[in-house]
Amino acid sequence: MSVSVMDITVHKVEKSRINQLDPSNIQFGKLYADHMLVAHYENGEWLPAEIVPFGDLSLSPATTFMHYGQAIFEGVKAYKDAEGNATIFRPYDNWRRFNRSAVRMAMPEIPEELFVEGMRQLVDLDRNWIPTGENTSLYLRPFMIATDEFIGVKPAEKFTFLIITSPAGPYYSKPVSIYIQDRYVRAFPGGIGFTKAAGNYGASMYPTQEIRKMGYDQILWTDGLHHKYVQEIGTMNVFFVIGDKVITPETSETILEGVTRDSAIKVMREKGITVEERPLSIDEIVEAYKNGQLREAFGTGTAASISNIAELTYHDLKMQLPPVETWEVANWLKQELNDIRYGRKEDTHGWNLHV
Ligand SMILES: *Cc1c(COP(=O)(O)O)cnc(C)c1O
Repeated sequence: MSVSVMDITVHKVEKSRINQLDPSNIQFGKLYADHMLVAHYENGEWLPAEIVPFGDLSLSPATTFMHYGQAIFEGVKAYKDAEGNATIFRPYDNWRRFNRSAVRMAMPEIPEELFVEGMRQLVDLDRNWIPTGENTSLYLRPFMIATDEFIGVKPAEKFTFLIITSPAGPYYSKPVSIYIQDRYVRAFPGGIGFTKAAGNYGASMYPTQEIRKMGYDQILWTDGLHHKYVQEIGTMNVFFVIGDKVITPETSETILEGVTRDSAIKVMREKGITVEERPLSIDEIVEAYKNGQLREAFGTGTAASISNIAELTYHDLKMQLPPVETWEVANWLKQELNDIRYGRKEDTHGWNLHV
């Protein structure tokens, strides 16, 4: 499986749409940069990729993924430092995870060059679209769909890989109100919870809609067997600061291996903070709350980076966390990760790919 990078042909837009971007009012996911990357898989191999103007796809209504959900994606971000240099944060980790998702969904793996170098070339071409300023970035969305024109149920043979990109603004994410879910399930052993399969998101919409009506922002998912152990919040990995320890569920078939999660654990451990990756029960959280030991709780993910939790509701119990301004771990962590991403701190892990 070898796709030469040299084979990526580039069809540039005649006129950039960059003037549509208002840097003072970036609405995430509404506006896409000028170009996208497209590659097709046929007869057992990836064909050379193309970078083309961002635009609509033309597909048969019988296209497999529309019916049976053979579709996976990734979320990655490109940043600009104070000098205007562009970097992509940990794209190799997203590439590896993309391929784990692909295998589970009976889709072809993507060569590293196609994913990472294709992404780098795309970002290079559209580097003007990377906003500047704290907490801004260009969000990169690689995804793959099964494209057989066939509605019989079987693993597809034709696939399309694309990367689209969208500027993400400096949004202030206010601490979220969480509902601990013990009816619906996000992930089950043997299932696809560890993948970024489109269907995981489709299945989460209804439960999320229900708790939003009740006034909550996100769901804290629990294990499907006993609804006893916590898994993730919404589409983020979750961390709790209990006493002087940070605890997060260990990754498994039911918990997605977040790149932000891994980055957070590494920098916290380097700082000397004790981080435990282990099963964490709701009982333990409630007990810590009652003993005054539940100090902080937050989600991690590429989209929001660190999302602080204001309160957790479990049945009749509303657990209010201390004011976010007093938090020592999450606030420091957010700053630390930003310092690495924006090149203000030495990138000792080699996480930033220079574009
Ligand atoms: C994408 C995702 C995350 C966060 O992963 P990052 O690599 O940190 O962006 C966490 N949980 C779920 C279910 C996800 O889909």
